[in-house]
Amino acid sequence: MPPSPSAPPLPKVKLAPRGAERLKSGHVWVYRSDVADADGVAPGSVVTVTDSRGKALGTALYSSSSQIAIRLLAPEHVADFRGLLRQRIADAVAYRERVVRDSSAYRVIFSEGDFLPGLIVDRYNDILTLQILVQAMDADLVRETVMSELTERLSPASIVERVDARVRELESLPARSSGLVQGEKTSTVFAMNGVQFIYDATEGQKTGAFLDQRENYAAAAQYGHGEALDVFCYQGGFALHLASRCTQVTGVDSSRPALEVAERNEALNRETWVSRASDGTGVGKNEIEWIEANAFDLLKDFAAAKRQYDTIVLDPPAFAKTKRDLDAAMRGYNEINLRALKMLRPGGILVTCSCSYHVSQALFLEMLASAAADAHRTVRVLEVRGQAKDHPVLLNVPETSYLKCVILSVS
Ligand code: SAH
Repeated sequence: MPPSPSAPPLPKVKLAPRGAERLKSGHVWVYRSDVADADGVAPGSVVTVTDSRGKALGTALYSSSSQIAIRLLAPEHVADFRGLLRQRIADAVAYRERVVRDSSAYRVIFSEGDFLPGLIVDRYNDILTLQILVQAMDADLVRETVMSELTERLSPASIVERVDARVRELESLPARSSGLVQGEKTSTVFAMNGVQFIYDATEGQKTGAFLDQRENYAAAAQYGHGEALDVFCYQGGFALHLASRCTQVTGVDSSRPALEVAERNEALNRETWVSRASDGTGVGKNEIEWIEANAFDLLKDFAAAKRQYDTIVLDPPAFAKTKRDLDAAMRGYNEINLRALKMLRPGGILVTCSCSYHVSQALFLEMLASAAADAHRTVRVLEVRGQAKDHPVLLNVPETSYLKCVILSVS
């Protein structure tokens, strides 16, 4: 699209050859070290990026302080940034209508995955949460555009901003606190795969749910049976899905507040399970046992006590937050997976996850293979899964793919 004659030209950022190559390969980020010239460009500007000879490569969001200096918006000139935002938000909403089934909670906007770098929006039934991760998206006019388009498309009762103080610091943005930015409502109930969950945005409980596991919950429930152990259970995502399939479920987490919500979630769903239990299967009859513990210690103690399960879920926090943590992270994954494999009865199911981007799918499978050999167990792969489709993966941007969820049948 040629620039409209009335629109002022955008500020220019010139890239070093490696930065230009990166964009040509289909990636959308350029690191600061690959920027040749950004003199005088204001923080958070919408800019034209050029190669070293001045040829335009597209329109991008510029950050003056993050390691990622350039986030490409479009490979052409963008004359109307806010118009583009509106269009992309509408597209993101329409995409969810096609790919999300049986859920009133999902990620509405996933940053680069929806061509809206630095913007994340989640929907919990009638409450939306907003996260702003880059300078350009923090401008007042941009915030207003985003909120008005979301309101028009989804008519939320309220919008809550979730602030990551560290991200704002890295982006040199002024501190801000989390909380309501539109409307009054701070808590609601959402349903996912027929299971109900509480969402509460008030102080202390503003983390929300792990929406990226939504499809994996359903998959786990399909294979889960017998006695189940959900390790790193948070507010009970897997445990509550397993409860209607398994005779006994135990959830383990080190966070007391998370387990309190898990318990409330259980109460919310009990009626459905009771009616199932009365069909004579016994499934869903027993109360879920919630244990506050360090998962590493608990697995060690349970293994020593020769405890056995038919289904085990492992969904730890990201052990490798940076590449430097990788070795220690792999030892951590190996330890918990080895113990879980040893504790499964023949025919058992292991649902094992990693949300560390730095741990590739290949590396994760290699670790599982080695743990299976060490545990002397024969393991068949039922499913190798990733994040739910409302967290779209861009093929040319590997960083958009981070979640692994492998389901194994253990002989
Ligand atoms: N499976 C959950 C998400 C897990 S997130 C779901 O689907 O909703 C990771 C969880 O691990 C968090 O709830 C955190 O409190 C917990 N955690 C972190 N370190 C832990 C440890 N050492 N022992 C037990 N739980 C831990």
